[in-house]
Amino acid sequence: MSDCLFCRIAAGEVPADIVYEDEKVVVFKDINPKAAVHLLLIPRLHVASLREVTPEQDELLGYMLRLTAKLAADQGLDEGYRTIINTGPGGGQVIFHLHVHLLGGEGLPGFG
Ligand code: AMP
Ligand code: ZN
Repeated sequence: MSDCLFCRIAAGEVPADIVYEDEKVVVFKDINPKAAVHLLLIPRLHVASLREVTPEQDELLGYMLRLTAKLAADQGLDEGYRTIINTGPGGGQVIFHLHVHLLGGEGLPGFG
């Protein structure tokens, strides 16, 4: 059994509010949402962070980003949205399984 929380969510061992999944990725609601829509998109493959991504995973990353745009449209975020990938402790990453935050709608804080 993995000790990575997001691997465990992907495996169905830890419950999450899953909004989309396929053979490559799982998307679920952030447990502590920072805006009306706050989803986390993770690869099923354990990759600790953006720093560990290899050229073999270029296709997976492209897939994840394009899916993020589709999910935003599905969520009705027609005015726009924010995508965030925190990397390393200095970047605010606390869960070391690569994930894309998709944020939008009411309550989205200003940036900078
Ligand atoms: P990061 O700071 O980029 O590593 O973001 C980790 C995110 O995971 C935070 O926004 C947390 O609220 C979220 N999170 C932590 N545990 C869970 C969980 N069990 N289910 C859903 N989201 C979670
Ligand atoms: Zn993992």
